[in-house]
Formats: sequence, C-alpha cells, structure tokens
Amino acid sequence: MDSNRRKFLKIAGLTAIAGVAAPSAFNSLLRGEAVASTGHGESAAPAVAGKQYGLVIDSKKFLADPSLAERCVSACHSIHNVPDFGNKKDEIKWIWVEKYANCFPEHSHLKRNEALEQTPFITMCNHCAKPPCVRACPTQATFKNKDGIVMMDYHRCIGCRFCMAACPYGARSFNWRDPRGKDEMGKPFIKRFNRDYPTRTRGVVEKCTFCNERVLRGLPPACVEASAGAMIFGDLNNPSDPINEVLKGNFTIQRKPNLGTSPSLFYII
Ligand code: SF4
Ligand code: SF4
Repeated sequence: MDSNRRKFLKIAGLTAIAGVAAPSAFNSLLRGEAVASTGHGESAAPAVAGKQYGLVIDSKKFLADPSLAERCVSACHSIHNVPDFGNKKDEIKWIWVEKYANCFPEHSHLKRNEALEQTPFITMCNHCAKPPCVRACPTQATFKNKDGIVMMDYHRCIGCRFCMAACPYGARSFNWRDPRGKDEMGKPFIKRFNRDYPTRTRGVVEKCTFCNERVLRGLPPACVEASAGAMIFGDLNNPSDPINEVLKGNFTIQRKPNLGTSPSLFYII
C-alpha cells in the first residue's frame, strides 16, 4: 500500500468513526492530503493541459420552456439504462432538476428575483478539473480521462461510497437494488432498455459520464442534443471552441466555486 493510499484510508477511517464523514474528508481531500494516481494512465491531479470538456447551461431557455428540462433528463436516462426504482430513497440520477436555492446555496437568497424561483436548474456531474471524488476512490474505479471527463469503471467499484461522501454536489448515486430487476408488479426498473449501452449491478456507484461514448464518435451529449440550443458543450481549454465565445459573451456562475473543485458546468442566469 503506498503512503498516499494509507493517508487516505486513515482520514476516511477517522472521519467515519467521528461520524462526520463528508465535510472533513472533503476538506482533507481538497488540501491534497490524500492523492492517488489512477491506473488508467491519467493523473488524479487537476488537468493543466489537453482537453477539458465543459457545458454552458442557459437557464433562461429552461424557464421559457417548462418541459425542456424533463426532455433532457429523459434523453439521458433512457439511452444510459438508468433505472427508476420508484422512490426517492433508492433514486439513481445522472441529470436532474434543482431549485435555485439548492443549486447555489452560497448565493444570497434575500429578496430574490421571482423568475429565479421558477427556473428549473438542470444539473449533473460537474466534471471538476480538481475532482475530490477521484482522490477519494481507493480502487481507482473513478478517474479523469484525457478529455477531462470524470469516468467510472464499474468493474473496479467496490461500493465503499467514499466518492459519494467526497462529492459536494450530490452527483453520484448508489445502486442499493439490482437495476436489472423488476418491481412487485413485474415491471422492469429500466423502462426503455438500450441494448447498445451497458447496465450496472447492485452495489456500484454511477453518474453522468458527459456521454463519453457519444463524444468519442463526434456526437454531442444526449442532453445537449435534446436541449434545442439551451446547453452548449465544448472544450474549455481550446480558445477557438465556440463554448469559449459563449462564456466570454455572457455572465455565468458555477456551483460552489469557492470549494476549489473547478466545476466545468457554467450557468447563464
Ligand atoms: S461533481 Fe462530484 S462526482 Fe462530478 S467530478 Fe465533481 S466531485 Fe466528482
Ligand atoms: S452529458 Fe450525457 S451522461 Fe451526462 S447528463 Fe447529459 S446525457 Fe446524461
């Protein structure tokens, strides 16, 4: 066991005993007290060169079309075989809708604009440039790929959920039940099965992969395709990528930027 891994397990063990797992473990991880290299030829350290895919979300367009958010969620969950267990406790979500106050809790909510209250803020994994989840994973089941996408290797996931405790955005879900199973009425948890995408098993963590399987084929993420121009996907590190023009021309905010994770999702307010 290398010393970084030993340090991480010590931190995780102590925080679990103290019953204060998420915040203190998260802070330690961000300070770099536990750093693991991945087994995928990529570094767990922040990407400083190469691609960093990101997303701009135009919240005004989601306010203007009340069914748009649901269409984006449906596009993602149906092509990725995301199960619906029918209750909040077991919920698996790759992309979901939050209210402004939940999405941006660090902002002042005093005398807030009413339109903000009504706006459905769509959110997902931030594919952070400095992802604490990657540092937390003891088996390197989650890792940052060469395009800056935070991926999951389900075969390496041991279900410890350290990555979930480390993620300050609630972007990861745990399969308490078998997603390939059926409910009491005999209906499958995966409503529309896509044979071209793998299913997961009970006991593993899952989340948005920025549609890596589509991006590698030159396609936009499924939610972006369904968004009718309300979401713009591109390489934040490529100055000539149109996403950087959008970012230059609009006021945008990120979720919890003060945590130092460098989220790759930007919201036009
Ligand atoms: S949003 Fe959470 S799961 Fe996604 S990269 Fe950041 S810390 Fe990891
Ligand atoms: S980028 Fe792909 S995987 Fe991520 S939320 Fe959108 S459709 Fe789902």
